[in-house]
Amino acid sequence: MNAEIICVGTELLLGNIVNTNAAYISERISRLGIACYNQCVVGDNMERCLAQLKESSSRSDIIILSGGLGPTEDDMTKEAVAQFNKLPLVEDKDSRKSIEEYFAKRNIEPTENNWKQALLPKGAKAIPNANGTAPGMILETKNCTYILLPGPPGELEPMFETQVMPYLASLQSGVLFSKTVKIVGVGESKAETMIKDMIDAQTNPTIATYAKTGEVHIRVTSYASDEKEAKKLVKPVVKELKLRFGNSIYSTDEDVTLERAVMELLVSNSMSLCTVESCTGGLISSRIVGESGASEILKCGFVTYSNKSKRKLVGVKKSTLDKYGAVSKQVASEMAKGGANVSKSDVCISVTGIAGPDGGTEEKPVGLVYIGCYVKGKTTVKEFRFSGNRNKIRNLSATNALILARECILEYISKVNFG
Ligand code: ATP
Repeated sequence: MNAEIICVGTELLLGNIVNTNAAYISERISRLGIACYNQCVVGDNMERCLAQLKESSSRSDIIILSGGLGPTEDDMTKEAVAQFNKLPLVEDKDSRKSIEEYFAKRNIEPTENNWKQALLPKGAKAIPNANGTAPGMILETKNCTYILLPGPPGELEPMFETQVMPYLASLQSGVLFSKTVKIVGVGESKAETMIKDMIDAQTNPTIATYAKTGEVHIRVTSYASDEKEAKKLVKPVVKELKLRFGNSIYSTDEDVTLERAVMELLVSNSMSLCTVESCTGGLISSRIVGESGASEILKCGFVTYSNKSKRKLVGVKKSTLDKYGAVSKQVASEMAKGGANVSKSDVCISVTGIAGPDGGTEEKPVGLVYIGCYVKGKTTVKEFRFSGNRNKIRNLSATNALILARECILEYISKVNFG
């Protein structure tokens, strides 16, 4: 089986951007044992795209195209593939739904041309895009299979890793096996530096890092003739990552979220939880409740948005609010202690901050958030300065609250166990 790569984009021809997608894709497919004899770049021009498709489809089994899936006029990759194969473009319901959700999550109004991204050549299968709006797609025709991917590497690479590689491996009758090492408390660039030698030396398995909100995921993927062999290749790499990142790893299980990891930590130590939330307005308790078994640990969640509720529900002192203001280290601390006290919980997470876009001052700008965590008598408060819109700040606050809770619980456990 042979494949070739067509990267679409005039900016690539002009040298405005470096064609890292071609390098990335070739490297990945060569690991799968798929031969790649040709790569090329075409500008955003329908005629030249069609001419290239004619030439490529005459000699390759698989054509992987990157770029030109966006919403604007000059994005025409799928139009060219549809036209070349004499197929109409039809709307894919799931892709439309994903686009709706993408914009709703970010509080942005989509423009009419965004819906163009939900159109696929008839018969093509959409590849969901977790990091953008343009879905990728796979179109199998009699002569050739077309795989279309968005241009931004931050979108293309995760799609390739999680969806295209398994698809290509299935065509090759080999097996892909992946493990994701999920890390908190270490930024992406630091994480990459910590494993630079491993990334540089990677062959099989491959190692790829992805930044998530407040988290870094390292995906280790091997390719072998059977599952046993593939797992054997991944094992020592994951072991090495565990040595390097230690407690910063909260899970190596694909299905375990950060909230699940916090919950499991509480369950295994017979601890109960309470949340006292201001700017996150219940996001943290909602994430916990989203996990089955939450009733075993979650006693209650307070949303103390007003000053009065902070005083009435969890006993924050009026003098503290007057002296330091609602968004302060002192108030976050009293919220955590007060919540634990009122609910008789072992652990209590508190959040108070300014999510914006209004309400910021020079001294206390939008994005300033205090997160507190009480664990059996000890309260820790951390100050954060997040940037982004209201939604992003609230989500970052919730994630970092879970990270802090995990840190504080682990610290307590290690003290109890080792004095
Ligand atoms: P979007 O939905 O963001 O418009 P797209 O699929 O239409 O994505 P392009 O418009 O072709 O993709 O490219 C978007 C950006 O992706 C480029 O400005 C560039 O930063 C990056 N990009 C595109 N092609 C490549 C490539 N081959 N190598 C590296 N980066 C690329």
